[in-house]
Amino acid sequence: MSLDTFPHARLDQVTALLKTTGYRLTPQRLAILRALIGSHQHPSVEQIYRQVRQDFPTTSLATVYNTLECLKSLGEVLELPLGGGSRYDGRKPEPHAHLICTACGRIEDLDIDLGGITQAVAQERGYTEVRQRLEFYGICPACQEGSQIGKGN
Ligand code: ZN
Ligand code: MN
Repeated sequence: MSLDTFPHARLDQVTALLKTTGYRLTPQRLAILRALIGSHQHPSVEQIYRQVRQDFPTTSLATVYNTLECLKSLGEVLELPLGGGSRYDGRKPEPHAHLICTACGRIEDLDIDLGGITQAVAQERGYTEVRQRLEFYGICPACQEGSQIGKGN
C-alpha cells in the first residue's frame, strides 16, 4: 500500500477551471483527469488510455488527446516531448527539471530553480517570453540492480 495520497485539491482545481470554460466533464473525461493527476509516472497518452479503458471500455484515444489538448491550452498540463512520444505531468504544470532513466523510461521531478537563469537569459539577450526545458538522463538505481542480476544470461 502506497503512503502517497491522491491529490484531490489539484483535481478539484482543474475540474473547477474546466467548468468555468464550459467544458463538459463527462465521466470518461473525469477518469482521464484522475489517471493523469493521480500518476507520478508522467504517463504517455497510451498509458492514460489503457488505464481509463479498464473502467470505461468505450473511451477513444481521441478523447484522451482532446482532454490533454484542452488542459494544455489552459496551461494545466506540462507536455514533455521526448523521443518515443510525449509524456505528461498533470500534477505540476509549471516548467520544471526532470531526471529520466534511459533504461526503463522512469521520469522523476527535480527540484532545481530555473527561474533565475531564465530571467538572466531574457535580460542579457533582450528576449521576452523565454521558456526552457531541462532534462537529465541516466540509469536509475533499480535498473542498475537489474542489470547486475541479469549479467551472465
Ligand atoms: Zn530505470
Ligand atoms: Mn514533472
